[in-house]
Formats: sequence, structure tokens, C-alpha cells
Amino acid sequence: MKATKFFFKTYKEIPKEAQTPSHILMHRAGMIQKLASGIYSYLPLALRSLKKIEKIIREELDKRGCQEVLMPAVQPAELWEESKRWKYYGPELLRFKDRKESDYCFGPTHEEVVTDMARKILTSYKQLPLNLYQIQTKFRDEIRPRFGLMRGREFIMKDAYSFDINEEEAKNSYKLMYDAYNAIFTRMNLKFKPVDAATGAIGGDMSHEFQVLAETGEDEILSCNKCSYCANIEKALSGNELKKADAAKKKELSEVSTPNIKTIDELSAFLKIDPSMLIKTIIYLVDDKPVVVLLRGNEEANEAKIQAFLGANSIAPANDTIVKSITKSEVGFAGPVGLDPNVLVIADKHVFEDTDYVCGANKTDYHFKGFDPERDFKPSQIADITFAKKGDKCPKCNDGILEEYRGIEVGQVFYLGTKYSSLMNCNFLDSDGKEQTAVMGCYGIGVSRTMAASIEQNHDDNGIIWPVAIAPFEVAVIPVQLNSEIVVETSEKIYNELLASGIDVFMDDRNERAGFKFNDADLIGFPVQIICGSRLIENGKVEVKIRKTNEKKEIDIINITAAVKELLLLL
Ligand code: ATP
Ligand code: MG
Repeated sequence: MKATKFFFKTYKEIPKEAQTPSHILMHRAGMIQKLASGIYSYLPLALRSLKKIEKIIREELDKRGCQEVLMPAVQPAELWEESKRWKYYGPELLRFKDRKESDYCFGPTHEEVVTDMARKILTSYKQLPLNLYQIQTKFRDEIRPRFGLMRGREFIMKDAYSFDINEEEAKNSYKLMYDAYNAIFTRMNLKFKPVDAATGAIGGDMSHEFQVLAETGEDEILSCNKCSYCANIEKALSGNELKKADAAKKKELSEVSTPNIKTIDELSAFLKIDPSMLIKTIIYLVDDKPVVVLLRGNEEANEAKIQAFLGANSIAPANDTIVKSITKSEVGFAGPVGLDPNVLVIADKHVFEDTDYVCGANKTDYHFKGFDPERDFKPSQIADITFAKKGDKCPKCNDGILEEYRGIEVGQVFYLGTKYSSLMNCNFLDSDGKEQTAVMGCYGIGVSRTMAASIEQNHDDNGIIWPVAIAPFEVAVIPVQLNSEIVVETSEKIYNELLASGIDVFMDDRNERAGFKFNDADLIGFPVQIICGSRLIENGKVEVKIRKTNEKKEIDIINITAAVKELLLLL
């Protein structure tokens, strides 16, 4: 491709909302254009990279027996009623009506459609295992679309779904996809970690995320410095031993006046008590039912753990009306003592490490002091519902210490079990002629996010540093003295020779200053840049620059194709 014919434009300016390197650089390199919040066009440079990512994905999945399909983006509400997600998916689901007033949504994921597709064809165990995938545009009405393609509303996803005869086979399918994902991100030359993950709205009980390590990542990961334990903070466990409460410290439960003192910080300052000695009482709506959650005041509630513990579809803080009806007081005074026994109360296990706490009294402007968790209330359940922290002991080897990393989730694999197949009657006859329910898994890769994540991980002040495998072009030929016939002719020759040898090459034939072309070449991030200039005239050599290391070599034009091929293999 020649620059003079190529649809692209580079920019110096940075849009106000662009805060992360991939957003800034993809804009500046003219790869993407914003159409609306979280909705972008992919220009040819971006699409070339996306297609390479897609090709790697297709090759690794096809090789493992997955079959490509293409499902509709628009999905009827009835299917989502069957899985009960029409009710629980929440405002991220873009819903609309057609002219007949029938309800539809734009697919954020395709468990319902693929289960429907499979149940229409599956009859026998002989048709399993089955793994169907597609690469398609998804829409999620994200509350805060940001960072360009990293968190868009419209984005490209590869989603795959496996169907098996039983749990064991389904776990094999899961493992196969886990291996495929490792192969895919390794081929893209990204630094990544597979991590234990929470399952959220998709459901199921086993899951791993593939996290590209980058400082700008939105996810926090805890990883053992001695063993292979690695988990998203939403799921990570702490190996620290629980302390035992000191019975000698026990006090009487008594009321204390706390006029208008509502938050943990206010209470801590007012009573001069460390937040760890306060009990935080939070009321959630979990699948539309109120659930009271208790934690020590220095801990945060881990909503993903609460959701997973209760096997729930949705979780959100309850509104003031519900809080008031449960506590019979103003918001800010909720506590564990004297609650209606029919309300589910989940206490974090750390609450039982001590006694003589301060907690809300379920009475406006009052708290209790001397609260003893063993004596003064009965939780419905005790669970681990807080966050593990860096520096905690590893829960797996009990020897190492957890270290913290930031990551970008580029893919996730889920073992679903029969969550969707049983609700949607996706059944088959086993070898004894008995009806069984298919056991499923689902597997996503954010294709557009992966492109952005690769830039987050690989860039410098001058621009993008592409891994060769997913670079829009592998090589740029940059003639810098267009008034010299020999430069023009030789660069044309090199360009054609590289093209003929199957290299993905770009030629900057624009009539621009050398510095301008060099800046664009670094910004767009061509991994290998061949500069044809004065040395060509002097000694028949071109300068070859490696974008990643900034290393420059002089290479004789006679050897150029072989030399470039060799370099590309190394990068
Ligand atoms: P996140 O936690 O980042 O919101 P998710 O866990 O909801 O993502 P999945 O349902 O696991 O996402 O979707 C599969 C993949 O699709 C993710 O691993 C991610 O790479 C990609 N993805 C999800 N949401 C977005 C988005 N808003 N923009 C771009 N890619 C996305
Ligand atoms: Mg995910």
C-alpha cells in the first residue's frame, strides 16, 4: 500500500477525553474515529490490525475443532425471558421495540441465541462435543464508556460456546479453550496472565480471565510471588489466618447518642475509634430481595463475592426506602441487632475476629457500643465477602505473598454447567436413549479491546510499538529524497520485491519532509522501517530501523528482502 493512495490522516492534537495511551495514539495515528460516546469507526489501519487478530483467533479455534457461525446481533426478548435475563441484565442491555411493539435487544452476548440454535439441531449424544463461535459486533450500554476501544459501547467480540454430554467432558472443552486462549495471546506476543475470575451476570461456577498486564488496566490482580496462584481481586482469597476474639475484652451492649453521624469516617472521628472497630452494615438488593451485609469498618464489600456466594443474577445497593423499611430508622444507622429474622444477613468472617465494636442501632441518631458478634446477633450465613490485599499470604501455597498487578481483561472463559441449557431445554438423548441436558461453557475475547490493550502495553512517547503479528503493516519503505531518481526507483523496487515475497509493506511516497515521515512512521508504529536516502546514492545501502529498539543498521539493497524477513522473525 502506498501512502498517497491510503485513506489515513495523522494528528498532533489529542481529544480532550482521551486519557490513555491507546486512545490517544489510535486517534493520533488516524486509526479510529469517534461517532458517538463509546461508538467508533475503524479506519483501514485499525481494520488491518483487527483482521490479523481475528485470523490468529480463527486459526487457533478451527485447529481445535470449533466451528464458525454468525448469529444475529438483534435478539427477540422472548429468548431472554426464557433465561430470565430480560429481567436481570440491567441497563447495559440496549432494548428497543420494532414497529409491531415487540421487544428486542442488541446482543451484548449470545448465550440465549446459541442455545436456541443448538437445541433446534441437537438430538443425540453423537453430535457432541460441539463448539460454535462467531466474531461479531456487540453492544453494551456501559455506564461509563471510556478509554477509546478499551471500554466502548459498541465493540467487536469473539464469542464461543461449547456443548457437552456431561460435566467431565464440558471441563475438557473448557481446558481446550483455556489452552487456545494461551496460544492466541502468546502468538500476539502480549505479556498476559490467566487469572481466577468471578462470573458476574454470565453465571456459572468456574472462570478465568486473560489479563494483559498494563499500568492503565482497570482490573486489579493478585498473584503469588512463589506459586502459580493468580486471581482477579473480585475473586482473590487471602491465606491470612483469622484471629480469635479476646473474650476478656467483652463489654455490655449499650446505646450511644450519635446525632447525625452516619458514615464510618464521621463515626470514627466522633467516637475516636479506629474504623476496624466499627461494623459497617450495608443493605443490598440481590435478585430483588434485600440482603444485609456486615463487615468491619476498614474493609470494603466485595460485591462480586457476595453475588457468587448467593449464586445471584444481580446485586445493587438498596435504595433509601428499602433501607428505612428494614432498619426502621433514617439511613446511616443500620446495624445487625434486632433485625427482622426473615431478612437474610451475611456477615464477613473477619467480623468475628474481635469484640466490643460500635455498630448502628437501627434507631435514628443512635449506635450501639460493646457489640459482640458471637453474642448479640445470629447471621444467616458467614462468608468471605471482602477483598484480599497485596502483602496477604497466598491461599494456595501458604508460603508466598500476594503481589498486585494491573491488567486489561482481553478474554474470559466460563464453565456454565446447565444454567442456560436447562432453562431453555437444550437436551439430547444419551447412549441409553435417556434425555439429558447439554453441559455448556462460554468463551469471549474482546477483539477490539485486544488491539487497544496491545498498544497500552507497547508504546513510547513517539507512538505505537506493534508486535509484528498484529501490526497493520510489517514494514514501511520511506524514501526521503524524492528529487533523486535513484532513491525513487530503488525504493519502488524494494517495495515491490518485499510485496512479492509476501511481506505486508507500506510505502510512504508522500512528498513531505523526512522528519515528518519519520514521525508518522514511529506514531503508526511500523515494526521495521527502511529509509532510502543519501546512503543509497553513496554506497547502495539503505538504513533499516527497528521501531521497538530504535536500533539502526545499514543493509545492502541486494540483501534487503532476506534481511527484513530475518528481522521480522526476531521481533
Ligand atoms: P468488563 O469486566 O471489562 O466489563 P466483562 O467481564 O463484562 O468485561 P465479558 O462478558 O467477559 O466482559 O466479555 C468478553 C470480552 O469482551 C471481555 O473479556 C472483554 O475483552 C470484551 N469486552 C467486554 N466489554 C467490553 C467493552 N465495553 N468494550 C470493549 N470490549 C469489551
Ligand atoms: Mg469478563
